[in-house]
Amino acid sequence: MDNPFGMTAEEYSTIAVSDYLAKILGLKPYPETPLVIMTARSSNSAAVVTPIFQDFSAKYLPQLVEKWKHLDKSHATLYSDVLRALTRNNYWGRFQLTHPLGRIVAAEHALRLSRQQVPIKDDAYNFSGSTMFLWNLLIWEDKQGDEFPIPEATAEKIVELIEEFLRDCPGQMGTTTAKGCMLLLRSRGSDPQPRFTLEVTKAQWTMDLRVCGFCDAEEGPGGAPLMRCGKCRNVAYCGAEHQKMGWRGHKARCIKASWE
Ligand SMILES: [Zn+2]
Ligand SMILES: [Zn+2]
Repeated sequence: MDNPFGMTAEEYSTIAVSDYLAKILGLKPYPETPLVIMTARSSNSAAVVTPIFQDFSAKYLPQLVEKWKHLDKSHATLYSDVLRALTRNNYWGRFQLTHPLGRIVAAEHALRLSRQQVPIKDDAYNFSGSTMFLWNLLIWEDKQGDEFPIPEATAEKIVELIEEFLRDCPGQMGTTTAKGCMLLLRSRGSDPQPRFTLEVTKAQWTMDLRVCGFCDAEEGPGGAPLMRCGKCRNVAYCGAEHQKMGWRGHKARCIKASWE
């Protein structure tokens, strides 16, 4: 497979994050070099990769998305895989919804997906990965009707492509997600079936903001709202006391986003 870093598909699928970043961004290798992920092709457990993804997101999301924005479709697919791996944490959520670069990702990715050049059956893996990325973006957007982030013409084109995917690529990974995407695109975000899945997933991804990071309470004393960690903004506490008591466990994961 051709890719911007001159690696084979196998190499690409299991590159060390540090090498990856060093290659594409010219950054110094990650301190814990042996930790290998990567992307959906990796079988590493969430417990291992989640902290790495959070660390990366806090540091490099604007650079990664800036690179992705300027790539042609074939190369962008590889980056989309990487970006997709980063979508499952609150750094990404804030980035996508508030950062100027993040605001363009959903519509831009949808546009690229709609411009599929080759028959889906010859490109099933990438197409399925791209659809999963779109699904994750829609989870964060969580909008319906006039606010739905994908223009109608683009959505219609993607629906046709997903129909082709479902027809020509039976058994391919990502079929359920592709169906969910299709129903959301057709209904401008309002179909109850995919909405349910979307809301459950969003609730999982944002769990750290909805319960106290020390005692799991959903609110502070007297019904006060939880307070977010002011540095990373990725965890919440029922009060100052639990923030203090939770610090030992939280410290290692508390990274201020470079772009906030
Ligand atoms: Zn608490
Ligand atoms: Zn923090």
